[in-house]
Amino acid sequence: MQKQFSIKLLPSEVSDHSILQNTLAQACGVPPRRISGFHLLKQSIDARGKQAWFHITVNVFIDEPFQPISLIPLELKEVRNANKKVIVIGAGPAGLFAALHLIEQGIQPIVLERGKDVRARRRDLAAINKEGIVNPESNYCFGEGGAGTYSDGKLYTRSTKRGDVYRILSILVQFGADEKILYEAHPHIGTNKLPNIITAIRNKIIECGGEVRFEKKVSDFIVEQQAMKGVRTEQGEEFHAEAVILATGHSARDIFKLLHSKKILIESKPFALGVRVEHPQSLIDSIQYHCPTRSPYLPPAAYSLVQQVNGRGVFSFCMCPGGIIAPAATNTDEVVVNGWSPSKRNNPYANSGIVVSIEEKNLKAYQRYGPLAAMYFQQQVEQNAFKAGGGKLVAPALRMVDFSEGKTSSSLPDCSYLPGIHSADLSQVLPDFVQQSLKLAFKEFGKKMKGYFTNDAVVVATESRTSSPVRIPRNNELQHPQIKNLYPCGEGAGYAGGIVSAAMDGEKVAKQISKAIYTK
Ligand SMILES: Cc1cc2nc3c(=O)[nH]c(=O)nc-3n(C[C@H](O)[C@H](O)[C@H](O)COP(=O)(O)OP(=O)(O)OC[C@H]3O[C@@H](n4cnc5c(N)ncnc54)[C@H](O)[C@@H]3O)c2cc1C
Repeated sequence: MQKQFSIKLLPSEVSDHSILQNTLAQACGVPPRRISGFHLLKQSIDARGKQAWFHITVNVFIDEPFQPISLIPLELKEVRNANKKVIVIGAGPAGLFAALHLIEQGIQPIVLERGKDVRARRRDLAAINKEGIVNPESNYCFGEGGAGTYSDGKLYTRSTKRGDVYRILSILVQFGADEKILYEAHPHIGTNKLPNIITAIRNKIIECGGEVRFEKKVSDFIVEQQAMKGVRTEQGEEFHAEAVILATGHSARDIFKLLHSKKILIESKPFALGVRVEHPQSLIDSIQYHCPTRSPYLPPAAYSLVQQVNGRGVFSFCMCPGGIIAPAATNTDEVVVNGWSPSKRNNPYANSGIVVSIEEKNLKAYQRYGPLAAMYFQQQVEQNAFKAGGGKLVAPALRMVDFSEGKTSSSLPDCSYLPGIHSADLSQVLPDFVQQSLKLAFKEFGKKMKGYFTNDAVVVATESRTSSPVRIPRNNELQHPQIKNLYPCGEGAGYAGGIVSAAMDGEKVAKQISKAIYTK
C-alpha cells in the first residue's frame, strides 16, 4: 500500500532519514518496520511564528517494496552523422538544454562558447578574486555553464509551468544534482556542485555526437537574403547550419552591438540596478527564526523583500544565505557584484541584491544610443563603481545606515567580497533616483524585518546584471521577425530570468526548430 499525505513537523523530526521514517510510521499508525521507504514530494519551512515548522507532503510505502523516484527519461539519439545541424551560440543553461533537446530530436548541435571549460575557467576566477584582473572572455558570466555555473544555483522560478519546471529539475538530477531539488520549495545546488553537473551535460552532448567548442567567440553572422546561414568566430572560422540559436546571456554586449550594427532589430528593455547588501548570517537567522541563535535543524535563513518607493519598485534579488559576494564584471574597467553560495550555505554572511526598477523614462540621457540606451546606462554605472573603488575590482561600499543618512563610513565591517571594499561616496556611482529609492527602501525593510536596517550591514555597489538591458524580438515561430532561422533564446534575449527559465527557453526553442526543420 502507498499512502500520500501532508503533515507539519518540527525541524528536529525532519532532521534525518530514520527519525523521519519513525515519525511517518507514527503518523500512518503502523510500526516503523512496515515502512519500506518514502518519497518527499514537497517540503517548505514556515517560520512566521515563534516555532518554525516544516510542511511536507510525502508518499509512504507500507508493506510493499520501495520504488525509487522515477525521473523523466531523456530520449537522446546518436547525432554524429545527422544531416541536420543547428549552431548554438553560448553554453549557458539555455544553450546546453537547447543542445540536449536538439539531440533528442535527432539534430546535431554545434555549441560555440567564447569562454573556457568549467575547469580552466576556475583559474580565471582565481585571478579575478586574488589579483582583481578580469579576463573579458572567461569570468563569472562567460565560460562553460554560463553565468549560472559559479552561482548559488537557486532553482526557483516564477514560471507556473510545473511540468516543464519538473522536467528541468529531473534532468539536472540525472546529471548529478541531489534529488532534494525535486521537492524543496526553494531548491538550490551550490557553486561547488554545479561544475560537475555542467561537465556531465557536456560529456553527454559529445557522447551523442554533438559538438561543444570552447574559446570560439562568435563575432559575425552570415546572413543571406534575410536568412541566417551560419556564423564567423573571432578565431577566423566559419560554421554553417540549418538554424542558429542565440543564447549569449545578458552580458554579451558585443552581440547586442553586432545586431544593432547589422540593423537587425533589437529593443531597449527595462531592467533593475542597485547594490548588494551583506549582513551577518546570524543576524538574518535571528530575525527570520525569531530566536537568538538558529536551531541546528534549520537551514541558514533567506529573505525576500519588496517595497514601492514613490511609485518605483525596490526589491531583493538573488538572495544568498551563507554566501559570498561575487565580482561579476566582464570588462577590465567595471565593478559588478552578484552573489553565490556553496551547497551547505555555510559562510558567515547573508547577501542579497537590492535593486531598483529602471524604466524607459530614466534613460533620457542615453537616448542617442537607441535600443542600446539601457545597456550604456548600465555600463556607465559599472564604470563609476570601478573608479570609486580605486581599481583592481575593489568595490565602493558604505555601512547601511550611513548610506541612508548620506554619511561616509569611517570604517567598514568584514565583507565576503574577495577583491575588497572601500568606503566611498556612492552618490558618485549611482544615479540620484536609484540612491534615493534605496535609502527609503532600507528604512522600510527595517520595519518589516526588525534589525535589518543596521550599520552592521554593508551596501556594496553595483548590482547591475539583474537581467538583460536589451530584448531581441522573436515571432510566434520563435524566430527573429526579420531574419529567418535566427532564434533568440534565454536571458540575453529577454525570455528568461534565471537558470531554470533559461533552460526551459532553450528546450522550447529547440523543440520549435525541430518542428520547423522537419516540416520544411
Ligand atoms: C554570480 C551569479 C549568480 C547567479 N545566481 C543565480 C541563481 O542562484 N539562480 C538563478 O536562477 N540564476 C542565477 N544567476 C543568473 C543565471 O546565471 C542566469 O539567469 C542564467 O545563467 C541565464 O542563462 P543563459 O543561458 O540565458 O545565459 P548565460 O548563462 O549568460 O550564458 C550565455 C553564454 O554565452 C556565452 N557567450 C556570450 N557571448 C558569446 C559569443 N559572442 N560567442 C560565443 N559564446 C558567447 C557566454 O560565455 C555564456 O557562457 C546568477 C548569475 C551570476 C552571474
